[in-house]
Amino acid sequence: MNKIHMCDTYGQYLTMKEEIDTAMQEVIKSTQFIKSGKVLEFETELSEYLNTNVITCGNGTDALQIAFMALGLQPGDEVITTPFTFIATVEVLVLLGLKPVFADVHPGTFNLNEAEVEKAITKKTKAILPVHLFGQCAHLEPMLELAKKHNLFLIEDACQALGTEYIFDNGSKKKAGTVGHIGCNSFFPSKNLGAFGDGGAVFTDNEQLAATVRSIANHGMKAKYQYERIGVNSRLDSIQAAILSVKLKHFARHIKARQQAATWYDEHLTGVKEIRLPERTTYSTHTFHQYTIQTEQRDELQQFLKEKEIPAMVYYPGVIHLQEAYKFLGHKKGDFPVAEKLAKTVLSLPMHTELTGRQLLHITDSIKEFFKK
Ligand SMILES: *Cc1c(COP(=O)(O)O)cnc(C)c1O
Repeated sequence: MNKIHMCDTYGQYLTMKEEIDTAMQEVIKSTQFIKSGKVLEFETELSEYLNTNVITCGNGTDALQIAFMALGLQPGDEVITTPFTFIATVEVLVLLGLKPVFADVHPGTFNLNEAEVEKAITKKTKAILPVHLFGQCAHLEPMLELAKKHNLFLIEDACQALGTEYIFDNGSKKKAGTVGHIGCNSFFPSKNLGAFGDGGAVFTDNEQLAATVRSIANHGMKAKYQYERIGVNSRLDSIQAAILSVKLKHFARHIKARQQAATWYDEHLTGVKEIRLPERTTYSTHTFHQYTIQTEQRDELQQFLKEKEIPAMVYYPGVIHLQEAYKFLGHKKGDFPVAEKLAKTVLSLPMHTELTGRQLLHITDSIKEFFKK
């Protein structure tokens, strides 16, 4: 049996090697490295896939920053988000002088709890920022209603959920990141659609907002050497775009492979009573950026699996409101008990597109063995 990886970027590359190598060579030959060639092609392809405007940028963190800037959020404005996410979501708010206001999450889905969001709304609230953690959408329809009622923006951090579909009560569907006013995505190598380096994108239906995003990502430029606002320099390069373009062609198959691995885990771990499996919802499909279980014996299980050469990772071992850098927000232990408990109990199992049946069997057998002891 081959070595089990948490995420197998190289193994996946080998299945598309010729296509990817050719695409990269084409970029080098074309010398269209920046804001041209493959970048424009990839933006068009992704915008067809998502049925919205796509503006690529340097990474997912930049995508968030550019989105907040494009919406015109001002210092002191409050943005409601989750304390159980990757740090970038919150970091960028603080960098722009915005105030992150946390609301607790659902224990089964790890995602922002809409009832807690409602309680956190004040006169200063300007936006709700759900994160579609581990590949499943937060419950967006109630949040859209709150946004409408209180005149707020709904900003989706869809960095972990490209390809996931949000399912409305009436049965209609939209892709993650295209439901709210603006959506943010990352092409970090381990993400659902991963580059071989950094990359990101902003999604929006609104043409004017799309133009603002494009301008901000390009130094605030309006026409050549004319600047209409303060911007940043954030761009996807053509080599990454060429790789992403190839991988987008295989994306449906890749999502299916993740879902099949998740189904294996579901079916083979349901009987283990010490484990809580990730909850599936009626309002979202799941693309399993991570397959994350919960158990009180998390650290012991992780160590046991390590001895069997099975990697398993803790995303995330700490909640943001208790991190040293965020002390100034004035939170204490117990403020968001669900998120705090998750930080102690979650464990993400190997999840990627190249897991074999034998590997999956070894993983689930080992977990069962641990709990039988
Ligand atoms: C990865 C990620 C980001 C940041 O993306 P980068 O491309 O690493 O900057 C932001 N939010 C979430 C939830 C992420 O998982």
